[in-house]
This record gives sequence, C-alpha cells and structure tokens, in this order.
Amino acid sequence: MKMLIIGSHVSFGTKQILGALEEALNYNSNTFMFYTGAPTNTIRKPIDNDIVSRAKITMKEKNIDINNVVCHAPYIVNLGSKKDLEKYNFSINFIRNELKRCDEMGITKMVLHPGNAVGITKEEGLNNIAEALNSILDGTTSCKILLETMAGKGTECGCTTDELKYIIDKVNCQNQIGVCLDTCHIFDGGYDISNFDLYLNEFDEKIGINKIGCIHVNDSKNILGSHKDRHANIGTGNIGFNNLINIIYHEKLINVPKILETPYIGDTDDSKERLYPPYKYEIEMIRNKNFNPNFLEEIRKEYKKD
Ligand code: FE
Ligand code: FE
Ligand code: ZN
Repeated sequence: MKMLIIGSHVSFGTKQILGALEEALNYNSNTFMFYTGAPTNTIRKPIDNDIVSRAKITMKEKNIDINNVVCHAPYIVNLGSKKDLEKYNFSINFIRNELKRCDEMGITKMVLHPGNAVGITKEEGLNNIAEALNSILDGTTSCKILLETMAGKGTECGCTTDELKYIIDKVNCQNQIGVCLDTCHIFDGGYDISNFDLYLNEFDEKIGINKIGCIHVNDSKNILGSHKDRHANIGTGNIGFNNLINIIYHEKLINVPKILETPYIGDTDDSKERLYPPYKYEIEMIRNKNFNPNFLEEIRKEYKKD
C-alpha cells in the first residue's frame, strides 16, 4: 500500500532545515515546506552544512524522504515584468541562487509563483517568465522549479492550465520544470474541483500529470471563481472536506507530497492576537478521513493550557 505524504508550511528560523523538520514532526507530518528566509524579503543567510547533516540523520530515522520536502521561493520576486530591468535581473539571479541553496540542502523541489504582468499584456508577462526561467535553468543547478497554479488575483500569471502550459512549453530544460497545484487557487481561479477528474484530465492532456510535483491543500474562504486567494482551514471553506479528501487520496497523485498552507487559529474567529498552528489537527482529520467539527475549539483549548 502506498503511503500518504502529508505536511505543512513550517518555519526555517535559526535552526534552518532542522528547525523546520522538528516543527513538522510535532504535527505528525512526513514531509514539510519552508521558505529559506522571510517570504517577503530576499535577505538570506548561508546554509549551515552541519545542520543539514544532522537533519538528514533525523529524516532517515523518521522515514522522511527528502525528495518530498519542498522549498518555496519568496513571493516578492517577479519574473513577469521587465519594466524595471534591474529588478527583473535581480529576480533571475536571486531564484538561481535559491536553487543553489536547495541543492546544498539536498532539496529537489522549489515552488515559485510564476509572476505578475504589471502594466503589460498577459502574453508579454508569460513570455517574460519563460525567458527568465530559461536563463535561471542554465545547467548549474539541479533542483526543480514547480510553477504554482495561481488564483488570478490582479495581474497574476499562471492562473489557468493554458497559461501554465504556455510557459512550460517554452522552457528548454524540461526535467527541471513542473507544477504545484494549489487547491484554493484552482477553485478561486474558476475550476470546479468537486469534479476533480475533469480538471485533472484536462491538465493531463495539456501538461501531463507527471509534471505535478506538489499539491498545496487549502480550503477557500471565497466562492468558486472569486480570484481572491484567501485560504481557509480544511473543511471550513467553500471547497469542503470531502472534495479535499478526494484530491488528497486521488490514486494518480498518491506519490505527490501534499502541503497544508491553512491559516493559524486565533483565540476567537476574528482575533489576530495569539495564533496557533492548525496543522496537527488538520493532518489527523485527513489521515482519519473524518472531519471533526469541533477542531478549532480543540486547538484553542490545547494551546491555552500552556
Ligand atoms: Fe505559494
Ligand atoms: Fe500555495
Ligand atoms: Zn494562496
């Protein structure tokens, strides 16, 4: 029997990949995803090789395959626009460097938001992204780039299967390019994933299921096609628990790591003061294939104890 590969977004922090791994183990994950620094800036510390070796030992003990561990590029870089050429070139160099950092850690997959077509047509944006990817993938790195399916907020590129296909078809280095499906983004982008096979078959015809390297599992606070990109906790949004379970356990995607990026829980529904991670509970519900309607309250109770 094939094993479910599930984890969440965790933080890198001062203990780098070892800190991320330890956090993931607390949630009973067998994979995880992290940014190698703040997602909102491009300040990066060198990778500590000693930490990497220690993390690898623990991963071996805990049966975590590093090929299922995912890095996420910061979302402030933009490969979609050349208006500020200096910024475009900075983004290219930064992403290439981020791939090198992944190689140093043995990470084989990095998720990237394709880019934004600011003040230009979608087609120009997509061309800029493809061109940037071809200069990033210059043969000096081996980590794959997974282009994330986007919700279509503002000028985002890569919010339809056709847009992703357009970029991917132009990439020279085919073995270093793939896709990360984000359930919230696909739904917000207008794909009714209550009929997921319809989506997956179209994806397979146009891009190929073998290109899917990661799935971000999120419910959505908004309705189908809203292009808003606001993640909800599993089973509390408009996608719903059963539709997410169908995707998570889809037989054609069983070897693909599933990563939760659902929001932290406040003391009350709109409190932003103290926030608790939901992942241990959501992972448990997913493993049991059973939605617990009281899980938000149970999280609040557990964390208030300490
Ligand atoms: Fe993302
Ligand atoms: Fe995502
Ligand atoms: Zn999102």
